[in-house]
Amino acid sequence: MERRVRVRFAPSPTGALHIGGVRTALYNYLFAKKNGGDFLLRIEDTDQNRFVPGAEDYIVETFKWLGITYDEGVGIGGPHAPYRQSERQPIYKQYADQLIANDFAYYAFDTTEELNEMRTKLEASKMPSKYDAASRMTMKNSLTLSKDEVNERLANNEPYVIRLKLPRKEEVRFHDIIRGWVVVQTAQMDDKVLYKSDGMPTYHLANVVDDYLMKITHVIRGEEWLPSAPLHVMLYRYLGWEDVMPQFAHLPLLLKPEGNGKLSKRDGDKLGFPVFPLEWKDPATGEVSSGYRESGYLPAAVINMLSFLGWHPSDNREMFSVEDLFAEFTLERVSKNGAKFDLNKALWFNHQYLQLQNNAEIATELLPKVTAKGYSADLAYIEKVVGLMKEKVNFAKEILEKGTYLFEAPTNYDEGVTSKKWKRGVPEFLAAYLGKINALSSYEAIELENSFKNLAIELAQNPGQLMQPLRVAVSGEAGGPPIFEMLELLGKEEVYKRISKAVEKITVIS
Ligand code: GLU
Repeated sequence: MERRVRVRFAPSPTGALHIGGVRTALYNYLFAKKNGGDFLLRIEDTDQNRFVPGAEDYIVETFKWLGITYDEGVGIGGPHAPYRQSERQPIYKQYADQLIANDFAYYAFDTTEELNEMRTKLEASKMPSKYDAASRMTMKNSLTLSKDEVNERLANNEPYVIRLKLPRKEEVRFHDIIRGWVVVQTAQMDDKVLYKSDGMPTYHLANVVDDYLMKITHVIRGEEWLPSAPLHVMLYRYLGWEDVMPQFAHLPLLLKPEGNGKLSKRDGDKLGFPVFPLEWKDPATGEVSSGYRESGYLPAAVINMLSFLGWHPSDNREMFSVEDLFAEFTLERVSKNGAKFDLNKALWFNHQYLQLQNNAEIATELLPKVTAKGYSADLAYIEKVVGLMKEKVNFAKEILEKGTYLFEAPTNYDEGVTSKKWKRGVPEFLAAYLGKINALSSYEAIELENSFKNLAIELAQNPGQLMQPLRVAVSGEAGGPPIFEMLELLGKEEVYKRISKAVEKITVIS
């Protein structure tokens, strides 16, 4: 019988969720939706030393912002609750015990010094410094100590760990949906710690046990976990769960824009883009890292952009709503090669989604910022500003940054224009144009344009030479939205004032 598709995102709350982690979550979510399955959020917090307060809430908030919903998990519960591994602590010991009872694991009592000594010795003789089938026989564990001594140490509460007992020479093979067959020799692996006497399982044991108990069918995670997969395969086998072992899909790394190396937490703010979904203040150092949300990215743009970092659709469309992605996403079209982060593409996506956003909605978002700057513009006016400027920007906030002159008269005039185009005849022309404006029956862009052109013909001047001076007179800038629409928006009185002032202030070039 086909099993119901169940996938999980299983982050460790060791800091702010990296944008690569968001992509992993997204691919899991899309895969679940595509296959009519379930998506779980499980928090893997067994390593209490690396626990960072706020990291879990940050993940939940990121999902909320992006509209990624999950069917079971922290905060909402579900049939396999709890979904936080620290709260599942009592579950794991029995599986570690089962492995010991079946001779697939053993107790080890080595101290840190003893482990270091072993490693130094192996390194000195140019051997791989691993705790494995060879070296374990020289160490203090239940394979070398007598049964009585082991029991005595356990009875005395001596600290121990439980290690997986890997065979000396065996081939581990498994199929990865993205990478194909992966073959690893146990001789290259080491006897990983599964459980510690402080009562906590390690990531490996907890991860496999929970994936089994939670009936996970596909493990979709970052490439950095590929080296752990052979060990997990062995655990499924030794725990007798091989027939329900999930399928693996290891996603490609997210690379720096130039492609040389993994996109790290430090890169973003250096290279001019966020590597975190939301702004994050490190609770230990107070260091603040920028977020996509605070930088003005739209959730739909981030989803679309991330979906393309390592995956491609069956045709060359680029704009995909999340619903489109539900239909189109397949793991077979995830690439093996690292995906280079592309800032221009991220900006392009945001630009596209901004164009789709309703002007009134953007205006409502901008209103408090407009008010905070001391401008008295109302919502209706801002909506018109949005209509005029949206096409020119990638972010809503840029409308205010680039279009200040739509709220206040310029105090400076672009020198590139004034020093080249403010020739003799220009102020006279503009003064005459003011007269025309005054006489207009209706103050509209089309009328403003027609009278501008007619006046140029009348005065035997080239309208092309006068356009930029007009723009500079009104906005101070060399470029901007369609000029006559801008004049219409600003209103007759304001335009009159601005042109008069420019005529008076700007010096004519000789
Ligand atoms: N806890 C691991 C992480 O932090 C999960 C890896 C996995 O999905 O198995 O990414």
